[in-house]
Amino acid sequence: MNTFTAEVSRIQDLTHDVRAIELRLLEPASITFKAGQFVSFEVPKEGHPRPVTRPYSIASPPEQRERILLVLNLVQGGPGSNYLFSLREGNRTSFKGPAGAFYLRDDGTKDLCFVATGTGIAPVRSMILAQLQRQPDRPVTLFWGLRSQRDLYWQDEWAALAAIHPHLTVVTTLSRPEPGWQGASGRVTALVEERITSVRNLAVYLCGGNGMIKDVTARINAKGLCPIYREKYYDE
Ligand SMILES: Cc1cc2nc3c(=O)[nH]c(=O)nc-3n(C[C@H](O)[C@H](O)[C@H](O)COP(=O)(O)OP(=O)(O)OC[C@H]3O[C@@H](n4cnc5c(N)ncnc54)[C@H](O)[C@@H]3O)c2cc1C
Repeated sequence: MNTFTAEVSRIQDLTHDVRAIELRLLEPASITFKAGQFVSFEVPKEGHPRPVTRPYSIASPPEQRERILLVLNLVQGGPGSNYLFSLREGNRTSFKGPAGAFYLRDDGTKDLCFVATGTGIAPVRSMILAQLQRQPDRPVTLFWGLRSQRDLYWQDEWAALAAIHPHLTVVTTLSRPEPGWQGASGRVTALVEERITSVRNLAVYLCGGNGMIKDVTARINAKGLCPIYREKYYDE
């Protein structure tokens, strides 16, 4: 693992509490990572003598080595997210990485199913972009769970990707939609239950809170055996 210094090159507010932060690497000037891996920040925590470590997945694809994209939500009073939300364009920061065993496997024979809740989309975005480069002809399905309309982001980006990649299917489901929502509603777990008819030749990647991970793992296992890779962000 290396320590990197970087400059905040772009900040984009995606929703009322989700922000994308692009970091341009200064020293070293580029990073080599596997799609799905994370970097870690050491941040001060009130009342603690020593900094605490918070990991954030890289949302950009691995071929983009000079800049990485993070996407995160603000957790009230949380030292990691509040530190990253305090950064402004042009500020410098440092992090360690890359690390993590949740990365896109080099198994060209499997169809892929990704299930994410909230900002669990971050490593999944990196993995899907890498997969579409590597093997555009293999089926890839993404089930992404968000809460309501005000939590939606990147919908146009996924629609544009699906338009040029006929083997990519993206379904965003809202667990608490406001009236007027035309898309899928309910939990990702229900989508997995309904839409995955067979796990033969499937590899599954799950990222988000541990409740979703446990439920989806159980549903997949009930359908049969296949590899399931998981990244737990937090306990629900
Ligand atoms: C490998 C890994 C990669 C991660 N990548 C990302 C990422 O790309 N984007 C991202 O937003 N987070 C990511 N996380 C979560 C992140 O590391 C922090 O836990 C999160 O930002 C909260 O940290 P905090 O210090 O602000 O708040 P804390 O004080 O540590 O958290 C307070 C509580 O908030 C809840 N919480 C934590 N994370 C979230 C969340 N994302 N959504 C809702 N509630 C939460 C938990 O119940 C937690 O106990 C990742 C976690 C892991 C383990």
